[in-house]
Amino acid sequence: MKMDTDVLKIFRELSRIPRESGNEKEVSNWIKSWAESLGLPVVQDDIWDLIITKPASAGYEDHEPVLMQAHIDMVCEKNSDSDHDFAKDPIELKLDGDWIVSANGTTLGADDGIGVSAAMAVLADDTLPHPSLEVVFTVQEETTFAGAESIDVSAIKSRRMINLDHADEAELIVGSCGGTGAKFTLPLIRESAAPSGWSGYRIRLFGLKGGHSGEDIHRGRGNAISLLLRLLETPELRVVSISGGTNRLAIPREAEAVVLAPDGETLEAILADVKQTFRKEYSGAAPDLDITAEPVDGGGSANVAGTAAAADGAVLLPLTADAMQMISAAVRLYPNGIAQMNGSFEGLVESSDNIGIISTEGDVLTLVSEVRGAYQSTVQDITGTIDTLAALLGASVEYFNGYVPWEFEADSKLRDLAVSTYTEMFGGEMRQLALHAGLECGFFAEKIPGLDLISIGPNCQYFHSPEERVSVTSVEHFYSFLKALLRKL
Ligand SMILES: [Zn+2]
Repeated sequence: MKMDTDVLKIFRELSRIPRESGNEKEVSNWIKSWAESLGLPVVQDDIWDLIITKPASAGYEDHEPVLMQAHIDMVCEKNSDSDHDFAKDPIELKLDGDWIVSANGTTLGADDGIGVSAAMAVLADDTLPHPSLEVVFTVQEETTFAGAESIDVSAIKSRRMINLDHADEAELIVGSCGGTGAKFTLPLIRESAAPSGWSGYRIRLFGLKGGHSGEDIHRGRGNAISLLLRLLETPELRVVSISGGTNRLAIPREAEAVVLAPDGETLEAILADVKQTFRKEYSGAAPDLDITAEPVDGGGSANVAGTAAAADGAVLLPLTADAMQMISAAVRLYPNGIAQMNGSFEGLVESSDNIGIISTEGDVLTLVSEVRGAYQSTVQDITGTIDTLAALLGASVEYFNGYVPWEFEADSKLRDLAVSTYTEMFGGEMRQLALHAGLECGFFAEKIPGLDLISIGPNCQYFHSPEERVSVTSVEHFYSFLKALLRKL
């Protein structure tokens, strides 16, 4: 049958074992026993990363070794009507034309189960010509990069590495960005009373498209936090609280604020005006952009000793004008969006920042963002701007979850060989591109000086969603391409 190939048979077995990021022990042990049953040496570390080695085939004993790498964890997303339990249920594969999808309404785990299966198929096949192989399987790629970050590569001899985590057979990845999370906090001061007779309202701005904080940052989709701030600067409003965004790695689609306004009509007029402006600016990217307001106390004008109050009786004290000015300064001057385009790759963002979360809890303004750059130095250029802003405003900054870029190298024998092999096999030219997203490759490039590195993979679509699918035909192309590369190395 169609799915009865070396790679897909292994993928089907691998899919039986749960492997959500952080829960890789069982799958790691399964791969370990599998490799040992083939007589291959395996090293397993205490977070379940694996290094498997296989000697060179006859005639390749004096060739330089090659490293293949993939991640064994997967993103676990399911449809709301799926009762799949990612902790124990197998993922069953289903054919839909040329595509393999999950039969359980879940992510398929082709990311990166196909890369893992291809490397295992090479390890299992004693008829293939290849140099000595070092296969590295990492954990937690989808969450923290902990596997790639902490794996001990001191025993690795290879200076050539093929990462098997890409999603297009006609593309060759040649670089990826580095980055860091940033948490910026600024103390705020409130008035001791609200303006007499004013009422509280919750304003919601929503309907933006959002997207990946790196790969979609150049698409002009708008940031709900910046837009809401522009609205809140209207002098007729007093701001009580602001919140927006759920994850620094996503461009925020929604943001909301509790404000005080002199009356409902004034507020309605302000919102209608701003909405018209924003809809015009984002008519292409967010035609459904909307701004709504509702009274927070349910009636619109409950006053407690001259101050507005919410339904639960909480007094709504607005931020002082100075505090609001500080928030404006912080959000307006904080790096947000594209910092610079990449001069080597047309249309690729070189560095960026995304304000993904805002909150004013506990009288502290918090902004959380994700900084990215093709070079560690351009990441630092942006964090330098954030540090400068923090010093100016008396705010503080913490950086977390940093990861290193895989910097593009002008000379790469492995890349040249991949490109010429692809043209020989399939005709046409392989597209070379760098990503404005993080890959594990960055950690290996940093740990193994002089490492020549590429990333490849078969055609997959809708990663990280229950629609995730991989092309059967493309898996065959990808695997024959991998075998041809190994034969030439
Ligand atoms: Zn992946």
